[in-house]
Amino acid sequence: MTALEALHTYWGYDGFRPMQEEIIGQALEGRDVLAILPTGGGKSVCFQVPCLMREGIGLVITPLIALMKDQVQNLMDRGIRAIAVHAGMNRHEVDLALNNAAYGDYKFLYLSPERLQTRLFQSYLDVLNISYIVVDEAHCISQWGYDFRPSYLEIGKLRERVDAPVIALTATATPLVADDIMDRLGFPEKNLLRSGFERPNLSYIVRRTQDKVGQVRSICGGVPGSGIVYVRSRARTQELSESLKAAGISASFYHAGLGAQTRADRQKDWKENRTRVMVCTNAFGMGIDKPDVRFVVHADVPDSPEAYFQEAGRAGRDGKSSYAVLLWNGTDTARLKQLEEVSFPSLESMEDLYQKLHIFFQIPYDEGEGRMLKWDIKEFCRHYRLQQAPTYYAVKYMEREGHWVLSEDMDIPTRIKIDVDRQALYSVDLPDPAMPQVLETLMRLYTGIFSYPVPIDEEAVASRCGVSVPALRQLLYQLGVNHVVRYIPADHATVLFLQHNRLRPGNVQLSPQRYRMLRSTFSERVKAMVEYVEGEECRSQYLLRYFGQEESAPCGQCDVCRAAKARPADLSSKLKAWISARESYTLKQIRTAFGTADDTYLEVLRELIDRGEVPPYTE
Ligand code: ADP
Ligand code: MG
Repeated sequence: MTALEALHTYWGYDGFRPMQEEIIGQALEGRDVLAILPTGGGKSVCFQVPCLMREGIGLVITPLIALMKDQVQNLMDRGIRAIAVHAGMNRHEVDLALNNAAYGDYKFLYLSPERLQTRLFQSYLDVLNISYIVVDEAHCISQWGYDFRPSYLEIGKLRERVDAPVIALTATATPLVADDIMDRLGFPEKNLLRSGFERPNLSYIVRRTQDKVGQVRSICGGVPGSGIVYVRSRARTQELSESLKAAGISASFYHAGLGAQTRADRQKDWKENRTRVMVCTNAFGMGIDKPDVRFVVHADVPDSPEAYFQEAGRAGRDGKSSYAVLLWNGTDTARLKQLEEVSFPSLESMEDLYQKLHIFFQIPYDEGEGRMLKWDIKEFCRHYRLQQAPTYYAVKYMEREGHWVLSEDMDIPTRIKIDVDRQALYSVDLPDPAMPQVLETLMRLYTGIFSYPVPIDEEAVASRCGVSVPALRQLLYQLGVNHVVRYIPADHATVLFLQHNRLRPGNVQLSPQRYRMLRSTFSERVKAMVEYVEGEECRSQYLLRYFGQEESAPCGQCDVCRAAKARPADLSSKLKAWISARESYTLKQIRTAFGTADDTYLEVLRELIDRGEVPPYTE
C-alpha cells in the first residue's frame, strides 16, 4: 500500500495537503522529522499514515486526555485498532491496556507523557514492537515554549531503549523552540519541515473599543455563518451569549465547568448548525474540526501569540473568506502587564504551598505517588486564607516542574465493584426485581468488576437493562446500600495526580535559574501579544514573523493593510472627473471603474454626493 492509497482507503481523501507527503516520505525513510504545520493543517495524517504502513505499533505521546480519546475514537471509527493510556486510569486499567497493545494487534498506542517513566510502562517496552515514536504537541518538550511539560523530557530517555524513528509535530514553534525540540529529542541531524503559516482567506482585524458587547453583537449580526466568540471568564460566556440571543442571534455558551452531556450537546448543536454562534472560554475548540467557521472573535486578549494564532485559525478551514477579530482596550493591556507578576508567585510561597497541599490531603512524607486528589481550589484557599489566582498559578508552575498533573474539570465516570463473590451473588436477596439483570449486564460487560472498581458506561448499561439512566443510578445506589456493590458515582471535579511521594521541606528545590528563564520567556510572549494589538504592522506578517517565517508579503486584508489602502488622496478627484464626463451614471458602472476588495470608493462617493459635489447615481 502506498501512502496515497492509505489516505484513500482509510480517510477517503483525494490528495495530500501541503507538506504532508514530504513529512510522510521522510518518516518512511526512517529519518527523524519535526513537522510544523498550522492548526488544522492535518498533522495527524502525517504520523498515522506511516504508522499504518509499517509493522508494529505507533507510540503516540500527547498531553491532552480529551484529544487522546477523540483521536482513538476517530481511528476506531475507521476500523483501525487504537488504544489509550492516560493519567485518569488506575493501575489495572493501564495494565490491561498495555497488555492489549503488546499482544492485541493494535496499530496505535496513545500515551500521556507522565506514563513514560512508570515502571509498568517500562516493563512493557521490550514486548511492544514500536514502529514510530510520535510526539504530538512537540513544543511541550521545550522550556522556551509556551506549554513546557517536564514529563516530555522523558521522551529523550525513551530513545535510548527504543530503536524507532521520531515523528514530532507542532503548530506553534518559534525558530528557537524548533531547534530546542530537535535537540531534546536527540535528532542525529536537524530535519525540519514546515508549511507556510499564511492563511490567505483569513482577515485579521484588531479593533480598540470600550463597547465590546456592542462590537460582538454587530460582528455576529453582520457576518453570516458560523462563529466562535472567545472570552476569558466562564461567567461572561453566559452573559454575552444571553445578550446575543436578546439581539435575535442564535447563540449558546460553553466552558469546562458545564457537565459532560451539556458540553457534548452544545458542541453538536453548533457543529451541525443548529446554533450559529458559540460564546466560550478556550476550553472550546480543541479537536473540533468544523470547516465553515466564518468568524472567530476574541472579546479579550489571549496571553500569547501562540494561543491567539491557534484559536483564530479555527476560522475558514474550508478556504473561504473569514474573519479573525480581536477586540481590546486599555483594561486588556493593563491585565497583560500584571499577568507576569500573578503567574509567577515567589519560589518560597510555592514551596510552602507544596507542603500545605499535602497536609490538606493528609499525605505523610515519602508517600502519595500515584494518588488522585479531588482538588477544590476555593475550599483549599478558604482553609489556608490564600488568594485563588496566585494559588492556581503556583499549582500550574509546580505541574510544569513535574510534581503533579492538574486536570481541570475532569469527568470522572461512575465506577462499580461487585463486593459479593460470583457464587454468593445468586443467593443474595435483592430488594428490586430489576437488580439481577443490572448485575448480570455489569458482569458481562466488565470482566474486572469483581476485583476492582471499573468505570462503567451508564448509558450502555441502562439501555441494555431497559431502564433510564436515573433509574439505573437509583438501583446502583440501593445495591450499594445493601453492600452488594461498591458504587462510586460519576463526578465532575478538578483533580491532581501526584507524580512523586511527598518531599520533605528543603527537598522540593525549585530551581531559581529555571524560574527566571520561564518567567522571562513568559514575559516576552505577553509583550509580543501587546505589540500585536498596539502595532501598526500587517497583522499577518507580524504573526508569521513571530513563528519564524521572515519572508512574507503584506496580506492586503487585515485592518492595517485596509487602512493603508483606504482613501488614496486622488480617489475623490478621479471620481469627480469621471462623473462630470457623463450625463448620468449607475453604481454598477462606478464599481466596474473603481471597485476594489473593500468599499472605499463607495464611501468617498457617498461623501461627494452628500456634499453635493457630484449628482447622485441613477438606478
Ligand atoms: P492538526 O492536528 O494539524 O490541527 P488534524 O490532523 O486534526 O489537524 O486535521 C484537521 C482536519 O483536516 C481533519 O479533519 C483531517 O481529517 C483533515 N485532513 C487532514 N489531511 C487531509 C487531506 N489530505 N485531505 C483532506 N482533509 C484532510
Ligand atoms: Mg493535532
